[in-house]
Amino acid sequence: MEGTIPPRKIGNLEDYETACKEFAWASVDKEFSWSEGGVYNVAHEAIDRHASNWRRNKIALYSITANNEVRKYTFGEIAEISSKLASGLTKLGAEIGDRVFIYLDRTSELYISLIGVTKMGAMASPLFSALGPEAFKDRALDCGAKYVITSPYLYKRIEPVLDDLVDIEKIIIVGDNADLGDITVKFDDVVASGDSCFKTVSMQPSDPYVIHYTSGSTGKPKGVLHGHKAMIQQAYTAKMILDLNEDDTYWCTADPGWVTGTSYGVLAPWYLGVTIVSYEGRFDADVWYNLLEKYGITVWYTAPTALRMLMNAGDEIVEKYDLSRLRHICSVGEPLNAEVVKWGDRVLNHRIHDTWWQTETGAHMVCNYPCMPIKPGSMGKPIPGVTASVVDENGNEVPPKTEGYLAVRPGWPSMMLGIWRNTPKFKEYFRVPGWYISGDLAFKDEDGYFWFLGRSDDVIKTSGERVGPFEVESALIEHPAVAEAGVIGKPDALRGEIVKAFVMLRPGYEGSDELKKEITNFVKTRLAYYAYPREMEFVTTLPKTRSGKIMRRVLKAQELGQPVGDLSTLED
Ligand code: ATP
Ligand code: MG
Repeated sequence: MEGTIPPRKIGNLEDYETACKEFAWASVDKEFSWSEGGVYNVAHEAIDRHASNWRRNKIALYSITANNEVRKYTFGEIAEISSKLASGLTKLGAEIGDRVFIYLDRTSELYISLIGVTKMGAMASPLFSALGPEAFKDRALDCGAKYVITSPYLYKRIEPVLDDLVDIEKIIIVGDNADLGDITVKFDDVVASGDSCFKTVSMQPSDPYVIHYTSGSTGKPKGVLHGHKAMIQQAYTAKMILDLNEDDTYWCTADPGWVTGTSYGVLAPWYLGVTIVSYEGRFDADVWYNLLEKYGITVWYTAPTALRMLMNAGDEIVEKYDLSRLRHICSVGEPLNAEVVKWGDRVLNHRIHDTWWQTETGAHMVCNYPCMPIKPGSMGKPIPGVTASVVDENGNEVPPKTEGYLAVRPGWPSMMLGIWRNTPKFKEYFRVPGWYISGDLAFKDEDGYFWFLGRSDDVIKTSGERVGPFEVESALIEHPAVAEAGVIGKPDALRGEIVKAFVMLRPGYEGSDELKKEITNFVKTRLAYYAYPREMEFVTTLPKTRSGKIMRRVLKAQELGQPVGDLSTLED
C-alpha cells in the first residue's frame, strides 16, 4: 500500500471547524502499512516502503557538509545501508530496547544511523554534537546507553568521561579510528558485516523508538520517550501543517538532537517521500539564503532565533537571491514575534506560520494552517484531533482573553510515553484531572486563536500585575536599534518584581543612556503601563540553548548572583 495521507482539505476556517468535528485519528492510522498487518516500525514507514516502489531511485537526502561537499542518497541507498547497519549492530550484540546514542555532526551517517537503530528495535537517542563531555555523561548515566555512534573527534571529547560509563559496550566510529580505545569499532566495518536483507523488526505501537532529551530551557533536561505510533500524528501534521507534498524539496534547520529534527527533520518528510536537505554548518545569512536558492527549497521549517538573525542581517541581502521556489515557511521552538511575521511578509514575501508544540507532545499541537488567516504573534489553533485550551489551577477553562495554563486533553497519538527513570516528573504534567499541563501560559482570543504569554516559571509579578516576558521582548525588538532582547523579573522591595530587559543592539548602534530612554519610551507606548522595563542593560550576547532559545533562567540567576543550574545545553 502507498500509505500517503490524503491531500489537505483545510482551506479556510470553516473547513477547519468541520475538519475538527469530523476528525478521527483512527482514519489516519489506516493510511499506514502497519494497519494491514505490515511491519509496525517508523523506519519501515519512512524508508523501506519507498525502497520497494518507484521512489527507490528518488533522492531522499542531500547532505551538505560544513565545507560544502554534497552527498546524495536515494531512498534505496538509505534503505540498504541502514539495513546493513541494523544487522551489523545486532551482530555486535545490540538488542531490542537498548539505548543507542547517536552523537554526530549533521552528516549523512547521522540520518542513516537513526534509521538503522530504529529498524532493529533499539531506542535511538540523538545527541546534539555540540554537547560537552559532562552533558554526554549525564545523559548516558541517566538512560544507561549501551552503544554510541560517533566520530573520532567527538570520541576524543568524551574519552575523559568514558571510565565512568560502565554500561557502554561498544563505540562505533564513523571515519578513520586508527588508534582509538579498545571498545571501538569502525562504522564502515559494522555496515560491511551486516546483511542488506535484514528484516526491520515489527514493534508494538507503544514501544519507544527514541529517547529525546528536552532543551533544558527551564532546568535539567528530561529524557522523553516516544513510541512508533507517534508517527501517526507526525505524518499527518507534516502534510497538513508543513504542507509537504511528494514534489517538495524541504529543509528543516533543527538538528536531530532535538525532537523537531527527528520528527519533522527526518521521519515524517521521508514518510511522505519528500527529498530533504541537511546542512552541517552553522548559521550564516548568506549561506542560508544561498542554500534556499541553490536547492530550490520549497518548504522551510526553522526557528524564531534564525529568523531574527536573518532580519538583523538586513533586507538588501535578500535581493541577491532567487527565492522564488519557496512557497511555505513554518517556525517553532520559541514564540514568534509579530515583528518577525511582518518582516516575513514584507521582505520574504511569505507569511511565516508559527507552530507550538513540545518535546513531550511529540508533534504539532497548536498551529497556523497553510491557508488560515494569520494573526501576527499568535500560535494559531489546535490541530484537528487535539483538544487544547487555557485552564486555571483546577482545570476549569477560563474565558477568552484570560491568562491560564495551556493544557491539552490527554490521548493524542504522539503523546510522550514517559520520562526515563522519572515517573514523578511525568505525573506532574497530569496533576490537574483531565488535562495535560504544558508548563506554558497562554490566552485564547474571541476567535479561538492562542497567544503565548510565557513559561509558567518566567512570568513576572510586578505591582500586583502579571507580565509575560515575551510581550516585552516583542515590543523591544520593534525598535529599530534592538536586535534581540531577554526579559526577566528582578526582585524589588516596592513592586515585588520589576521588569528588567537585557538588550542586544543591531550593528551600527552604540549603547547610551539616551538610547535607553528612547527605547523605554518606545515600549511604554506599546505595553500596559506597568509592563515596561524599569531597568535595561545593553549586552553583546544573550544566553541561549543550543537550539536557539533564550535562557531567561540564566539571565535571572546571573542578575541575582545565584547558581545557574544545568548549563549542558547552553551555547558557547
Ligand atoms: P525544558 O523542558 O528542558 O526546560 P524546553 O521546554 O525549551 O526545555 P522543548 O521541548 O524543546 O524544551 O521546547 C518546548 C517549549 O518551547 C514550549 O513549552 C514553549 O515554551 C517553547 N515553544 C515551542 N514552540 C513555541 C511557539 N511556537 N511559541 C511559543 N513557545 C514555543
Ligand atoms: Mg519544556
